Amino acid sequence: MGGAKLEHGSAADPVARAAHDTHVRRRRRVVRNAVLLLIVTAALLGLMVMNRDAADARACRARMEFAVRELQRLAEGGRPAPVPLPTIQGVSPPEAFHLRDHVDWNVFYAERGAGTAVVGVCVCRRKHDRFLLSDGRYAVVWRPADNRYEIEWIPEADYPARAAALGFIPARR
Ligand SMILES: [Zn+2]
Repeated sequence: MGGAKLEHGSAADPVARAAHDTHVRRRRRVVRNAVLLLIVTAALLGLMVMNRDAADARACRARMEFAVRELQRLAEGGRPAPVPLPTIQGVSPPEAFHLRDHVDWNVFYAERGAGTAVVGVCVCRRKHDRFLLSDGRYAVVWRPADNRYEIEWIPEADYPARAAALGFIPARR
């Protein structure tokens, strides 16, 4: 009885093996497609996040460039420009209002300028997240020697030390 069963089994073997092989191949293909889909999805998500972060940082940089232009214009008389920058509804460009909501001003920067090469004027209130890149903030700094304003990118890891050096920390207390 057992022999008959074995015989029957061995006769069906090639068919069973072929079916099994097909099943294994199909399963491998499904797994491979799933992994591929996962990789493509992850890459697309990464690109989306990178794009969003880059757009965010670009918008901030544009605001800071506006601040530098305005500060430089207001400092034409040879004296440091007032901070915060005045914003007038309907007259000031939108950047001025976005700037007001986005940065902390170092209101005594002009007084702190004595004896230092560079002093902070305003800095992003919160850090900018950058996917796969170092997070950080933009700051507008002032060089008293030539009454010049510039943009500086501060990596978040350096922020506490740089903020203290630029005179931002005491101003916020
Ligand atoms: Zn910013």
